[in-house]
Amino acid sequence: MKGTAMKTGFVWHEIYMWHSTGRHAGVYQPGLTIQPGVPFEEAETKRRFKNLLEVSGLGEQLQPIKALALTEQQLLAVHTPAYLEQLQQLSDGPGGLVCANTPVGHGSYEIAALAAGGVVAAVDAVLQGTVRNAYALVRPPGHHAEPDQGMGFCLLANAALAARHALDQHGLTRIAIVDWDVHHGNGAQRIFWDDPRVLTVSIHQDGNYPAHTGHAHELGGGAGTGYNLNVPLPAGCGEGAYLAAFDTLILPALRAYRPQLIIVPCGFDAGAYDPLGRMMLHSDSYRAMTQRLMDLADHCCDGRLVLCHEGGYEPNTVPYMGLAVMETLSGQRTAIVDPNLADMRGITGQALQPHQQQWITHLQHVLHSPLFEEGLRT
Ligand code: ZN
Repeated sequence: MKGTAMKTGFVWHEIYMWHSTGRHAGVYQPGLTIQPGVPFEEAETKRRFKNLLEVSGLGEQLQPIKALALTEQQLLAVHTPAYLEQLQQLSDGPGGLVCANTPVGHGSYEIAALAAGGVVAAVDAVLQGTVRNAYALVRPPGHHAEPDQGMGFCLLANAALAARHALDQHGLTRIAIVDWDVHHGNGAQRIFWDDPRVLTVSIHQDGNYPAHTGHAHELGGGAGTGYNLNVPLPAGCGEGAYLAAFDTLILPALRAYRPQLIIVPCGFDAGAYDPLGRMMLHSDSYRAMTQRLMDLADHCCDGRLVLCHEGGYEPNTVPYMGLAVMETLSGQRTAIVDPNLADMRGITGQALQPHQQQWITHLQHVLHSPLFEEGLRT
């Protein structure tokens, strides 16, 4: 285990906030029947998270990590030339859409390349041992981006590009991606579908977005069979169901896999007030999930843990859930009290419900890969 004197790394660049998502009303393009409004994916939630870090005093305790934009050659490790060309053309002009709900602004290509580069830089810092662990507060998000298309507000596959970098440049052979955004991590699933060197895990709201992926029976293919684990949970899950899923499904699989690095696409849209999810987590839930992964990383890979920012669209609560994660990663509790916590914890149904327990038991049977069975025996 690394010394606690080592700091938590932090990636941030103001220009991440300049990626323009226009005047969508939520996820909808404005028009004759839809008044122009504020898009769900915009800068404010992330900026408020960064601001709270500064106000809390924790910001100055973090080790800044400098992002470098990924080159086209690096992006081609995951994405197709045709998609990168489409993205570059839209970005060079006034912008447009790469799919119905995914706007590209002028310059978004360069900003997205710097966001992916931020996650890569965080991975470099953790693997080189210059920081204890790291959080990349980047934008635009990445976990829905597939090799040949952007989708779900995501342009480039930030976490997958960082995992590919760790395979190719650092020679790792076992990387775990643990995606706790409320939506399915379809990008990494597709990119590493047949690659056992990356265990892709996604815990998400069943049938949310994308509606047709993220089922438990999607276990990977070829040599990668058994190395893609989906944990789709029914809407309405609180902390009890999430921690039960961690303790009985996710952590045993990770213990069996023994990753050399864990990357977490970290969405705060499983928070109770999020407009794009129907789960009920709060800041202490994110604290608990972070601590579980830190304990596991300490046990199996010298604490190597990198989180990268994904979804989370409720501006008043995301900063406090984010601060809770940063306090946990850095081992430093600030004086800030989450004003939302009492109300969110008080929502009926936070504890594990019988139908949720039944579903998690069912998932244990579906996720029957040799890897997972081995994990359950440990
Ligand atoms: Zn999401």
